[in-house]
Amino acid sequence: MVNFSKRQLKIISIVKNNEPISGEEIAKNLGVAKTTLRNDLAILTMTEVLDAKPKVGYFYSGQTTPPLLFDKLFQTNVESLMMPPMIVKQDMSVYDAIVTLFMYDVGSLYVTDDVGELSGVVSRKDLLRATINNTQMGSTPVAVIMTRSPNIITVKKDARVLDAGYLLLQHKIDSLPVVDQVNSSNVIGKITKTVITEYFIKSGLDIESNNY
Ligand code: ADP
Repeated sequence: MVNFSKRQLKIISIVKNNEPISGEEIAKNLGVAKTTLRNDLAILTMTEVLDAKPKVGYFYSGQTTPPLLFDKLFQTNVESLMMPPMIVKQDMSVYDAIVTLFMYDVGSLYVTDDVGELSGVVSRKDLLRATINNTQMGSTPVAVIMTRSPNIITVKKDARVLDAGYLLLQHKIDSLPVVDQVNSSNVIGKITKTVITEYFIKSGLDIESNNY
């Protein structure tokens, strides 16, 4: 995996915008001596991010994006993107669950049992379905309509965002409860399709505009 230093990223950016450019010019641009950059330039040419043409200078080979994208997007763990979960008790009514959904502007609720362990998930569609022909929304507990444990798909905080995203796609769901490493019934966060999409798009745009 390639982990470029701040200076190496700066060099990439300089070359990208000024190619072909000599080592001296890069050094001048950074306000350092050319010898200071020897190692950085060696690494960047060895990893084929930069092309060095004798007597012409350095070119950007166009290969920075894959390693940078790979590093930033695919190695990020769930912990760095997870958000606080919205947890409700399983005796909460369908009516109150709908109100909670709107009040906190969330797409799903995680339901816990009497001892605080994850027992279910309630989504928007679960609630919509529960309202059809139901005049008892105020007295129907979410426990009746939720998707129940052990059918809940969860993820641990040290999993990669890539794997969490795969689970979301595979199971056609919008969010995953992030659970404790040891006690997998203890919910510590949530990771959603929206957050992952936002992260991927923003990172892509950042990389595109050299804003590493
Ligand atoms: P929506 O129902 O609003 O489209 P989802 O796509 O997340 O939202 O949910 C689809 C179904 O999958 C619902 O019945 C929901 O209870 C269930 N579900 C949601 N998240 C999970 C999860 N992490 N594990 C298991 N089932 C889930």
